[in-house]
Amino acid sequence: METATPQKEIIDAIKASGGDAFKSCYQCGMCDTVCPWNRVSKFSMRKLVREATFGLTEIDNEDIWRCTTCGKCPQVCPRDVQQIKSGVALRRIATEYDVFAGGASPIPGVAASLKAEGNPFGEARSKRADWAKDLNVKRFAEGMEILYSPGCYLAYDPRGKKIAKATVEILQAAGVDFGILGTDESCCGESIRKTGDETLFRNLARSNIAQLIGNGVKKILVSSPHCYHSFKNEYPEFMVHFEVVHITEYVHQLINEGRLKLTKEVARNVTYHDPCYLGRHNGIFEQPREALKSVPGLKLNEMAESKKNSFCCGGGGGRIWMETPKGERFSDLRLEQAAQTGAEVLVTSCPYCITNFEDSRLGRPDGGASIEVKDMTEIIREAI
Ligand code: SF4
Repeated sequence: METATPQKEIIDAIKASGGDAFKSCYQCGMCDTVCPWNRVSKFSMRKLVREATFGLTEIDNEDIWRCTTCGKCPQVCPRDVQQIKSGVALRRIATEYDVFAGGASPIPGVAASLKAEGNPFGEARSKRADWAKDLNVKRFAEGMEILYSPGCYLAYDPRGKKIAKATVEILQAAGVDFGILGTDESCCGESIRKTGDETLFRNLARSNIAQLIGNGVKKILVSSPHCYHSFKNEYPEFMVHFEVVHITEYVHQLINEGRLKLTKEVARNVTYHDPCYLGRHNGIFEQPREALKSVPGLKLNEMAESKKNSFCCGGGGGRIWMETPKGERFSDLRLEQAAQTGAEVLVTSCPYCITNFEDSRLGRPDGGASIEVKDMTEIIREAI
């Protein structure tokens, strides 16, 4: 396969995606000091930036697929180099040439499933609303208070379905008038965009926007921070603006308004993990914590790396679909940090984080017996 570097194309793509931001880099290396990869192996964003500036990146370089887009390096970069935007531009070129990390990448299969069925799992679109059977969930109709969009993981994944069920029980307990779009909903497209497949992202976004407008949706409630990020920050590129609310914000609001009453004691020691796309990318740090503190009997401990310094689970930037060898999984380190606080439960609010932490939990020496992994909604539901 021809993988010679298309130098001019790389430089042009980077320009198109983030201006000449790469050129501002003065090689200070701050990005490398905060990058989670350097806690488990070796990876240099500084080097990648240097090579890309001169169009010297080889598109079969596996390093271009490593970034989880966690958002830590842009936070410390003194030169506003916009590493995520430019890194995605490199992946875009590789995707156009059908060159994926390691040769056996799952990305082409994921993309094919997204194109055919609107989800990354290869599951039929017709099964997208099966999770809601027997839960007395209505189809969304214009005039309802809010649309609930569970996203792909909560609609299809067995672990995710439990979170969707907890969410519905919370909404019903608070008397929220909500509905779902069911089989008319497609993947938001956030993660496939980060793998460089811009065309597929745009097609998914257009399909969702047509459904949202056609059904008279004004306000969307989401469970995934990735859906939140996409609907709120990326869909406005299509000249549409929906009010987007993450479940952690909404639960906090329902408690404050007195619509949701937490009366049962949940006497557990917990710690909260900030998902990158909820915290660093969108500034939602306090609402989940405040909601958890409202639970009678619950004790919340903080991990050393929390809020804007939260340690990535490893699932962003399309990495949720890629295999990460044992010994290099960020989620293993994060679960250990959670255990060190004395927590019995690691609570989070992202389906990617839940997926990675559940895997890491089972890989612990005690088989995961000493720590549970829960979505915030599962704790709140216990308290109703
Ligand atoms: Fe370059 Fe910014 Fe990294 Fe420093 S932190 S090496 S300026 S990309």
